[in-house]
Amino acid sequence: MTRVAIVTGGTRGIGAAISKALKAAGHKVIANYAGNDEAASAFQAETGIPVVKFDVGDYAASAEKIAEIEQQHGPIDIVVNNAGITRDGAFHRMTHEQWSQVIRTDLDCMFNVTRPVIEGMRARGFGRIINISSINGQKGQAGQTNYSAAKAGVIGFSKALAQENAPKGITVNVIAPGYIDTEMVAAVPEEVLKKIISTIPNGRLGRAEEIADAVVFLASEQAGYFNGSVLSINGAQYMANG
Ligand code: NDP
Repeated sequence: MTRVAIVTGGTRGIGAAISKALKAAGHKVIANYAGNDEAASAFQAETGIPVVKFDVGDYAASAEKIAEIEQQHGPIDIVVNNAGITRDGAFHRMTHEQWSQVIRTDLDCMFNVTRPVIEGMRARGFGRIINISSINGQKGQAGQTNYSAAKAGVIGFSKALAQENAPKGITVNVIAPGYIDTEMVAAVPEEVLKKIISTIPNGRLGRAEEIADAVVFLASEQAGYFNGSVLSINGAQYMANG
């Protein structure tokens, strides 16, 4: 069945792969992005997927754009909260700006993007919410107290939201990727990356498409009993219990 899906940060990296895979699965996809107009235009030209620019850290902007999307394309049944940033640094040197930028973008976005669609999903008795956390939200990572806190917060948020909305036909699940080959990871110095790969039993970085395939499944009609779960996709690097 064709449904309307929004993918935040859906024009680059993992999000772009998710947008393309949901489209290939027959959904009507809208991809959000923050500021990289060039990448967004290239993505739209390549895929035919409409792009919408707004900051997921800004509640008013998110609510306004989501209302416009619903007017233009119909009610949103699938939300993939994928947009995220890092602002790494040891905590004793971290600025309040580094802390708050990451919390605002990676955690506040859960409220900002999900709140405007949840009442409609409840009224229609269907919804699929898929939130992208991180291995570093599960195990913690030195240099990423801000990011680890936000990504762990995504997991708590999703479990609570799943309980509240399960009776209304809505599922809320988390994907916690390990290290995936995107620009975010390309920013990691080569020596550090080599060390990271040596700790991954699969012996390589993950591919964005491997995350996207899992999203397509969680968004499907068949996945109705997957609810409140955390799917670790990390090449056996870390085995979490939730
Ligand atoms: P990229 O940096 O490659 O892409 C990020 C995307 O998010 C871009 O489309 C960007 O838009 C968008 N974005 C960033 N900030 C905002 C904002 N405030 N509002 C709207 N959109 C925004 O990231 P990845 O693909 O690597 O990561 C995607 C998600 O997966 C993130 O949540 C990340 O934390 C998570 N993750 C990534 C891992 C990895 O190894 N890559 C591992 C574990 C988790 P624009 O193009 O305009 O900048």
